[in-house]
Amino acid sequence: MADDRRDELEALLRRQRDAFTASRPETMGMRKDRIKRAMALIKDHGESLCKAMSADFGNRAMEQSMLTDIAATVGAGRHALKHMDKWAKRERRSVQFPLGLLGAKAELRYEPKGVIGILSPWNFPVQLAFGPLMQVFAAGNRAMIKPSEFTERTSLLMAELAEEYFTPDELAVVTGGPEVAAAFSSLPFDHLVFTGSTATGRRVMQAAAENLVPVTLELGGKSPVIMGRSADFAKAGERIALGKMMNAGQICLAPDYMIVPEDKEDEAVAGVSEGVSAMYQTLLENDDYASIVSDRHFERLQSLVADARDKGAEVIEVNPGNEDFSNANQRKMPLTILKNVTEDMTAMQEEIFGPVLPVKTYKAVDQAVDYVNEHDRPLGLYYFGHDSDEQERVLTRTISGGVTTNDVIFHVSMEDLPFGGVGPSGMGAYHAIEGFREFSHARAVYHQPKIDIAKLGGFKPPYGKATEKAAAQMMK
Ligand code: NAD
Repeated sequence: MADDRRDELEALLRRQRDAFTASRPETMGMRKDRIKRAMALIKDHGESLCKAMSADFGNRAMEQSMLTDIAATVGAGRHALKHMDKWAKRERRSVQFPLGLLGAKAELRYEPKGVIGILSPWNFPVQLAFGPLMQVFAAGNRAMIKPSEFTERTSLLMAELAEEYFTPDELAVVTGGPEVAAAFSSLPFDHLVFTGSTATGRRVMQAAAENLVPVTLELGGKSPVIMGRSADFAKAGERIALGKMMNAGQICLAPDYMIVPEDKEDEAVAGVSEGVSAMYQTLLENDDYASIVSDRHFERLQSLVADARDKGAEVIEVNPGNEDFSNANQRKMPLTILKNVTEDMTAMQEEIFGPVLPVKTYKAVDQAVDYVNEHDRPLGLYYFGHDSDEQERVLTRTISGGVTTNDVIFHVSMEDLPFGGVGPSGMGAYHAIEGFREFSHARAVYHQPKIDIAKLGGFKPPYGKATEKAAAQMMK
């Protein structure tokens, strides 16, 4: 990368940090004003942002983008505006007896960290850049965003709009490819939020470690659907189909694979297939169904299926309109269900991130639990069924970033729940009060009273009886 790009990024960070230092303390009014401007940017230009996203994907429904990228992001801003005064309140903490009686006080203050870097992916280009920003602003920080190069039109538009609504020392959107991204992740930010793949996340954390920059990593993984025997397979199928087909499966929380009771496999597959057919009579010319984002991503999905077929999987294409996808040339791919999958198939090793759904079977639900536990901790886990003991068994014996029961993905849309992964699916979380705290520094403040506490406590030399008494008292 040209040195002048790096210089430009460094200068931008310096400028933001200087402005941050000069303007402290950040009043709640100033923070709210920034959130309102970010909400206005997205709302006022919702339609052009949706058009840019559709052009970037090849096709992506305006209605879907309006929901997932525009409304959801404005909602995150509204939630922050409503709760940030409460989130930012100083907390009184207790002091050990008898310090309180002598006038000592302890408090916790949530203070801004400074300048926060946000590195975002292409699958929800607006939401994953501006969503975290709402909480970054609520906590009193400034931000630099580097959105994905795969959704270039959207990234350029976000950069242009940021200039219109913000001064560059409040918010700057910088564009560029992986080299700019790598340089960005090596800047000495006060915190870095990365949303993207586990592999890139690893590189980002390494680069951040160089400057001891704390990171929030929102990564991916294989989120399982465990179908209990008591599930309503038709209803569950509809819900899984909705979650798997939205954005053509290009969702970090998309149900990656299903594990179903052995004797219910056909019922489960039929449920999902019928769910797809009820929502999409055709796919190719259907604007409601998104394209795969690039040729490279499309080919990866095709080879995932070919590899599974070669290794003995049964491949079922759910093609409600009986369309010919072979020469379609528009990167649309029907839901492809894989049965008889084995561990040596790429589809069972990598996050799928597209409309391919492997199905595994179990005899007893503990086998499903064991399977999940033998693999990387997933971002989401889904349980379908009405057997509450079994549900608790599944939840208390597995670990995942989050859970939705009797549906998929929905937990991320609950504003008052934190969102994040665990282990290879990520670290840290945002949304809700946890997000505000993630982007704040919890500063411990202790106020010493006039009285000589050190002497009273026997901490002051010359040591003697009072010291011994104090030590004995502390160990009681
Ligand atoms: P990606 O990791 O390829 O790219 C994400 C960002 O990283 C982009 O802005 C890119 O420019 C940047 N980048 C690329 N190379 C880099 C490097 N060497 N150093 C630093 N940054 C670099 O991810 P993607 O393909 O855009 O997105 C798909 C992945 O993101 C999936 O794995 C998905 O599960 C995950 N994801 C997670 C969440 C979540 O909230 N947990 C949300 C959406 C997507």
